[in-house]
Amino acid sequence: MTKPKILLSPPHMSGKEIDQVKEAFRTNWIAPLGPNVDAFENEIASYLGANGAVAVSSGTAAIHLALSLLGVQKGDKVFCSTLTFVASANPILYQDAEPVFIDSEPDTWNMSPQALERALTDAVLEGNLPKAVIVVNLYGQIAKMDELVSICNRYNVPIIEDAAESLGSTYKGRPSGVFGKFSIFSFNGNKIITTSGGGMLVSGDLDALKKARFLATQAKDASPHYQHSVCGYNYRMSNILAGVGRAQLDVLESRVDARRHIFDRYYRCLVNLPGINFMPELLHTRTNRWLTAFTINEHEAGVSVGQLLETLNAENIEARPVWKPLHLQPLFKGAKYYPHERTGHVAQELFEKGICLPSGSSLTDDEQDRVIDCITETINGPVTSEEVILENMRYR
Ligand SMILES: *Cc1c(COP(=O)(O)O)cnc(C)c1O
Repeated sequence: MTKPKILLSPPHMSGKEIDQVKEAFRTNWIAPLGPNVDAFENEIASYLGANGAVAVSSGTAAIHLALSLLGVQKGDKVFCSTLTFVASANPILYQDAEPVFIDSEPDTWNMSPQALERALTDAVLEGNLPKAVIVVNLYGQIAKMDELVSICNRYNVPIIEDAAESLGSTYKGRPSGVFGKFSIFSFNGNKIITTSGGGMLVSGDLDALKKARFLATQAKDASPHYQHSVCGYNYRMSNILAGVGRAQLDVLESRVDARRHIFDRYYRCLVNLPGINFMPELLHTRTNRWLTAFTINEHEAGVSVGQLLETLNAENIEARPVWKPLHLQPLFKGAKYYPHERTGHVAQELFEKGICLPSGSSLTDDEQDRVIDCITETINGPVTSEEVILENMRYR
């Protein structure tokens, strides 16, 4: 008999979402926009201490709007973290612009400041500075923002903070979502909170956000008839889904606590296995630990990432490799890429050795034990029940 499936990061409802949905039905606010959308935007902005926010249909749409607002067009360059989900960079292609990928550094697994600096130096020499730098906060860990922001300020290039995975994380006491000229969140089903599908564009620039609202609702000119002077999009969030988002935002802190707790338990139980290195947490940051990730040194552990993924999969446990770097994707063949060091390719190594474990905030201790036991047995070989009891006494 196959064991019940353990998912990587399934939606985790609080139960209050359905009240918001019922209220939207009762008042017939079914159509896009409505009081929940306004309230959700205000609640996100006030949670962050940001000037404003615009609720949209996805995180990808939010990135596309940000690029559009920054005037990115055909032939422009946009820099982007290479170690990320493809959605970070697809909107660069929507604008017919040219992506340039920047490697990770080992402390955060995020954009390497020294690689960024080299890329910008080259861009100055070519007389073609990027229109934006998309900085991704991987698996909840915020990038080295002090360094990255100061470099970008020196070259006067705006940052788009891709905070799709890092809502609820902090950097030196400041929340993820305030580090870019624009920052974006995703409320896709697998993220730390979800609207089933949705996103948010955040900025300190209220005029830009006003323009974002205009572009996201088909760019209708002020006119009694349907008149359009620029190309717009249909990107706003529906009032029903915004209600779901409000109820989810209410429980965000408990979701962060749960995911951090899951990380801690994995860490305590697996850290002593040979060849395992967990994704670090940068000093003075607090990551939401959206996904627990570690690298595995095949020579020390005696198993490869592929073998470990296979055994987990056979146990009906959904684990995943770390994102495949975008500069290695067929889609971006030929794109420019700047490594962390001239011979050190950090993102590629993380991809080759990295694995993400089930980390949903609804994961039970019993489910997590199944994951822990499977990994332990794959690396150590089967253990006697006496050893299991001793392990349990030591770590749990
Ligand atoms: C999920 C995700 C996105 C895209 O968000 P959607 O809401 O799915 O469009 C963008 N960037 C990163 C890093 C993501 O993880």
